Amino acid sequence: MFTSSAPVVRKVRKGLSSDALYELVRNAFGQLPDHRHQKASIPLADALSSAFAMFSLKDPSLLAFDERRNDQNMKTVFGIGQIPSDTQMREILDPLEPDRLRPVFNDVFRQLQRGKALEPYVFHDGCYLLALDGTGYFSSNKVHCDSCLEKKNKQTGEVTYQHQMLGAAIVHPDHKEVIPLAPEPIQKQDGSTKNDCERNAAKRLLRKIRQEHPRLKLLVVEDGLASNAPHIRDLLELGMHFLLGVKPGDHAFLFDQLTEAFEQDHVTTMSWKEGDVTCEIGFTHRLPLNESNQDLLVNFLQYAEYAADGHRRKYFTWVTDLRITRGKARHLVRGGRARWKIENETFNTLKNQGYQFGHNFGHGQQNLSVVFAMLMMLAFLVDQTQQLCCPLFRAVWKKLRTKRALWDNLRSHFRHFVFTSMQHLQEVILHDLAKELPAPPLDTS
Ligand SMILES: [Zn+2]
Repeated sequence: MFTSSAPVVRKVRKGLSSDALYELVRNAFGQLPDHRHQKASIPLADALSSAFAMFSLKDPSLLAFDERRNDQNMKTVFGIGQIPSDTQMREILDPLEPDRLRPVFNDVFRQLQRGKALEPYVFHDGCYLLALDGTGYFSSNKVHCDSCLEKKNKQTGEVTYQHQMLGAAIVHPDHKEVIPLAPEPIQKQDGSTKNDCERNAAKRLLRKIRQEHPRLKLLVVEDGLASNAPHIRDLLELGMHFLLGVKPGDHAFLFDQLTEAFEQDHVTTMSWKEGDVTCEIGFTHRLPLNESNQDLLVNFLQYAEYAADGHRRKYFTWVTDLRITRGKARHLVRGGRARWKIENETFNTLKNQGYQFGHNFGHGQQNLSVVFAMLMMLAFLVDQTQQLCCPLFRAVWKKLRTKRALWDNLRSHFRHFVFTSMQHLQEVILHDLAKELPAPPLDTS
């Protein structure tokens, strides 16, 4: 029985509670074709669910996860039939093509759409802001696999092996949660000896996103690296709007045109005060992106902040295909600045808030490192969905204050008591009911 002082939790949105999401992910894993030829003793879905559980519980290593093999909560909470050993998990997942996991992300995304949870993320004219950015998560001089990027030190000849990925997430300036889509590995492509790069990965990723979400209206936000003509033409061809950073150093021709536009009074400006700070927006339309692509015209938007002494303390500049008006300019500036959420709320959360992104769970010879990174991103998507939609999750987080404390409590409860579901476990943490639970039977194996 809950005590009367216990916090009241509103009803969890159907289909978006932790247990409903775990079931959705498990069913999606069950739909994936098994890449192994001979009849395997451990189903692929169980191996994938086990790795997903490892990242959901934020286990620090595959070895730590291995200690859960006899834990009956693995069956009741995550619905896993047969739990592989750490060696079996590596062997099963290493040959798996990482792209096979994309439909699982899409299933969660569609559940968010069905639950109307994405509606508050519409940013402008029916469009969602899609932030893209690359990050590295593995680097070694020794450990490597077929898909590692290779960097050779010109002086010493020493080779560094790396893994990077291009992340994509729906973001909104008013919302802390981000909705990651399936990322694109930046890796050596099949049969190629050449290194891959973020630009090629973006080309592949945007095509996949368009194929998977043919009618999704998107406004793509990226940093200055993306403001090149081939990429912008790609975006337009895929029916995606863009709002991309530009830098005076990299786009000298564009900024010369801007100076000219200012001189001819073709730039609309507006300014306002926020305390001592003066904020200023300027925009103009139809400037050529660069000298060699003068047919590619873009609209230009800039935002600056000046301290009381006149010193410019912030300056941001973007190009876009959207028509900018006085009424829309401030909103677009907020959208452009929300790009940092892919770095801060996505990659930094994965690196610093218990997800162990960048840690080595086992590298494999083919795809294991990439498959693990994708599954970690999937666990993050499910966590973000719970944070966004599940009042019970939010209440537990609020009670424990930090994500780290939340994951620590989750793991220790999971280890020491028997639960019927994740909701059961979360309710026990929320209402301090652990002492009333029966202890699990002693492990005599
Ligand atoms: Zn590798």
